[in-house]
Amino acid sequence: MSDVLTADYHVHSNYSDGSFLEWMVRSAARTGLEGVGIADHCMLPRRREPLEHRIVAGYNLDLTYKRRREAIDLVDEVVDIEIYDAVEMDFFRESTEEIAAFLAEADFDYAIGSVHEIDGQNVHFSEHLLDKSPSQRKALVDDYFDDLETMIRSELFEICAHPDIVERNEAIRGLATKAHYEQIAAAFADSRTIPELNAGRILDEYGQFHPNEPFLEILIEYDIPITVGSDSHSPEAIGPRIERLERAFEDHGLTPAIPFEH
Ligand SMILES: [Zn+2]
Ligand SMILES: [Zn+2]
Repeated sequence: MSDVLTADYHVHSNYSDGSFLEWMVRSAARTGLEGVGIADHCMLPRRREPLEHRIVAGYNLDLTYKRRREAIDLVDEVVDIEIYDAVEMDFFRESTEEIAAFLAEADFDYAIGSVHEIDGQNVHFSEHLLDKSPSQRKALVDDYFDDLETMIRSELFEICAHPDIVERNEAIRGLATKAHYEQIAAAFADSRTIPELNAGRILDEYGQFHPNEPFLEILIEYDIPITVGSDSHSPEAIGPRIERLERAFEDHGLTPAIPFEH
């Protein structure tokens, strides 16, 4: 492990949809990292669909973060790595106050904010998009970037997760434009929130980071600090993703930003 990349600020554990917390931490330590951030999913929605999704998926860190904090302390005693107590929160415009109050109360090391919704449903579902016309699909991508801009400008979070997650969904892939990238880069320039280079799909069929290369180049042009997240859900994902992330940071001559120092 070179000294370019020393921490992974975005991994999941069994406190949401990842593998056992201790396995994730041990894997990060074996990879040679000095720090790992456990960022489990947490949702505070008001509408019915995300409320149901929250229950079905178990994205309940607001109910379990104190227990997870005990787990982190216990694992910290036996594994030689810095463990960050973090969260990946869904951003819902209508829940801004609840999110702010929860983050103030929970006092995580840092918080990652995510827009995961397209047309009221999780971005990983594509069936409901298949009967949309091309112009409707374009409008959904516009809505996504508008939500993302609102989230970044809210400054609720240290990190903005996977800023072009729309690319994961084949029904809307390729519809993001340079204008969208510039809209988001301008919002970052005004905000304490910074983007991550997210490796969640780098070794899958999609094969690119979030943000993808053209988007990343615009963020670099705007001089936006960029942090790092493998978005791993299993121990074996961490090493290979970190390797790819490290290469990407080196290729661009970038040093990953530390989220809680911004
Ligand atoms: Zn996410
Ligand atoms: Zn994640």
